[in-house]
Amino acid sequence: MITQRDTVNGAHFAFTDRWGGVSAVPYEELNLGGAVGDDPGTVRANRELAAKSLGLDPAHVVWMNQVHGADVAEVDGPWGDRPVPEVDAIVTVRRGLALAVLTADCVPVLLADPVAGIAAAAHAGRPGLVAGVVPAAVRAMMELGADPARIIARTGPAVCGRCYEVPEVMRADVSAVEPAAHSETSWGTPAVDVSAGVHAQLDRLGVRDREQSPVCTLESRDHFSYRRDRTTGRLAGYVWLD
Ligand SMILES: [Zn+2]
Repeated sequence: MITQRDTVNGAHFAFTDRWGGVSAVPYEELNLGGAVGDDPGTVRANRELAAKSLGLDPAHVVWMNQVHGADVAEVDGPWGDRPVPEVDAIVTVRRGLALAVLTADCVPVLLADPVAGIAAAAHAGRPGLVAGVVPAAVRAMMELGADPARIIARTGPAVCGRCYEVPEVMRADVSAVEPAAHSETSWGTPAVDVSAGVHAQLDRLGVRDREQSPVCTLESRDHFSYRRDRTTGRLAGYVWLD
């Protein structure tokens, strides 16, 4: 159910794995994504199971309509009847409100400044890395009063730089924007390391308290991987402040 969890100064960070839910093949078991072809009632049940395992009220978990961009929305509560915005980062000053990000190979990025009481979640795939969604999320936090020196960053399970094969020209394009993402597969072909790129972006902004999940989604059968399975579920990352 929960593959990694930690708490620092009242800031909570958690990432799910694929087990402990009620979805059938090929979304087995804990698919948390609502736009991948799984039954909506099943996804709702899974979101309730995951929230309860974290001690959260499922009605106070905020999800995004992720589109591989760099837009950030500030949120002060559940969307309710409002349309869920097409953004890849959300930020809040509301303590107790959990922000969630969905992934299956992309990098889930959780950020919190526990002193200022500001949290953010971001979805960074290769396009988001190039577009700068994570720096945009940090800047949105700073506009609300966060200090990068106090921001805690956790990135979750994602396809690793030894597995994420891309055409040479694509690696060149990504590396031109973020040199730290330049990588090579374990079989010697061009690759991109999105997690390394995200951490380099955070480091340049002065975010030093960072941890990166050691889990590669493509290599781990305990995690959903879009590149491995195509039709599959979504993992979630959650961040919230006491
Ligand atoms: Zn890997």
